[in-house]
Amino acid sequence: MPTPTTVGHFLINDVLPDTHKISGPMTNKGLHDHVVGMAKDHPAEYVKVIMALKHRGDEIATLEGVSVGLDDIEPDYKARDAILRPAAAQIENAKTPLERERLVIETQNKLLEHTKQHSGSMTHMALSGARGNAAQLMKIVASPLSAVHPKKGIDPTPIRRSYSEGLTAAEYWSTVPEVRANNVATVVSVSEPGEMAKVLVNNMIGTTISGTDCGTQNGVHIRIDDGHLLDRFSQVSHGLPRNTLITPRLVQQLKSKGVSELLVRSPMTCAAPHGVCQHCQGHSEKGQIHGIGTPVGVRAAQAMAEPLTQMALSSKHAVLTIKARKLEPQGLKGVRQLLEIPHAFKHEAVLAPNAGVVSKVEKAPQGGHYIHFGAQKLYANPELTVHATAGQHVEAGDALTDGVPHPGKIVAAKGIGAGRAYFVDALHKVYQGEGINLDKRHLELLAKSELNHVRFMEADPHHPEFLKGDIVNYNAFRDAYMKDVDRTPVDQAIGRRLGQEVLHHTVGTPITPNLAKDLKSRGIKEVMVNKQLPQVEFVMKPFTMNPLLETDWMARLSHRYLKGSIQQAVHFGEVADIHGAHPVPAYAYGAELRNGPSGNY
Ligand SMILES: [Zn+2]
Repeated sequence: MPTPTTVGHFLINDVLPDTHKISGPMTNKGLHDHVVGMAKDHPAEYVKVIMALKHRGDEIATLEGVSVGLDDIEPDYKARDAILRPAAAQIENAKTPLERERLVIETQNKLLEHTKQHSGSMTHMALSGARGNAAQLMKIVASPLSAVHPKKGIDPTPIRRSYSEGLTAAEYWSTVPEVRANNVATVVSVSEPGEMAKVLVNNMIGTTISGTDCGTQNGVHIRIDDGHLLDRFSQVSHGLPRNTLITPRLVQQLKSKGVSELLVRSPMTCAAPHGVCQHCQGHSEKGQIHGIGTPVGVRAAQAMAEPLTQMALSSKHAVLTIKARKLEPQGLKGVRQLLEIPHAFKHEAVLAPNAGVVSKVEKAPQGGHYIHFGAQKLYANPELTVHATAGQHVEAGDALTDGVPHPGKIVAAKGIGAGRAYFVDALHKVYQGEGINLDKRHLELLAKSELNHVRFMEADPHHPEFLKGDIVNYNAFRDAYMKDVDRTPVDQAIGRRLGQEVLHHTVGTPITPNLAKDLKSRGIKEVMVNKQLPQVEFVMKPFTMNPLLETDWMARLSHRYLKGSIQQAVHFGEVADIHGAHPVPAYAYGAELRNGPSGNY
């Protein structure tokens, strides 16, 4: 039987190629995915089709447009009141604010389902994502149910009418604080994401595609059913030769063979001296290899920044987005917290400062718990649940409670590699909590540029170029120390430090029993360990300060603290490289852009 088709289908399919016709209901997201699929399969034809699709849209908008009538916003009183009336009475009689909040969320969810059944083109527009959303339509045709006071929380008197039928004077007044707070938030909220976007770009502007293949054997393990596996190149893993492109079809084949995870290349483990190589970056969302010189860092920064405005605005719809009170960082504030790593880190998990044994966990008189750990007494505040038990062996940086581990402390305890991996996952979770499945490679690029520094705690006579107290780029540190190494069986390497990178672990990482176990489970029997490593500390700086660690003084001037930056450049006799990966010195010099020994780009 042929699929039933509408005039809309006919008009759109008319401009689509035969291989990519659509059928069934189409949403904004559905159309987006469809078009992305088309771009991957037929990149050449795609440009023509997308223009034709745009013209078709313009034509129809000019000829017809979509209008809404009064019947579109007429409430279905009977069905609405069946949900609203009993719930409103319960909400008024709620004994605690928490109970009221639960009732409001429950009822709003019911009203939302009711709204989705509402007849008329406004519902189609809201549900397809063309304009507005179901929550806004709910307020118009059903009821907002509750106003939220910015300080006092949910207003105890429920709203029993919809905007289309008109509120009573009392209901209207109860919504005023929320509306005012929203207006203020809208103005303020777009400024913060804008500022964060600029800082992200300053962190990543120097990251461009710098070569074809850096030659690394390292990468990250990703589970076979994880979509973030696609479009990457493999390392030698489960019979795949190095640099096999991971496609959905290949994933299906490997799955049927029972493969559960793959070792693939990642921007995070790229060994290129500057930027990232084509094979570690993988294919673009259009299914193509990135050309040399592509500013993947800036693109990643934009991809990360773009949802921030939406996050800032969506925090306005307070009631509808109240989630269970979790300790995980959420929304714009969550992203900011992980990037800015403030001293007062919200919901911070208690981490073991070094390897050792938990001797006792006891209630603290002021609330919360004391965790006795060796000679130390660590305090876990009352919001945290203690996981650690007496007698338990832990390693430095292991979490003893729930809550959010501080990325800077993970880096310091477990090395740059483990810190980057944690940072990527933690940040990805925040975006996911907002319904955004950000390409992890964007975050891996950020992790590489943000968690990338080593501080020398003592001078090393073999490397006089590093002074005590210097903070140096990880690559410089790695290149200096990766040669003086011993090949050692993993078990005998425990207690020493990694001399060469393995998987996502970086040079200088302490080899702990758990790391050794993990490496062995991945089939790694031997590692390179450092013969002699000075005392160093792995550091993470807040993302607003990180660009100041850039060694090129001219590049630093695109960020903040210009006076200090220039003074430092003069003190240390720093030079700028107009042929470097960072575009700012070339712009500032004004004579050329990227005209270096490796060619023009
Ligand atoms: Zn690479």
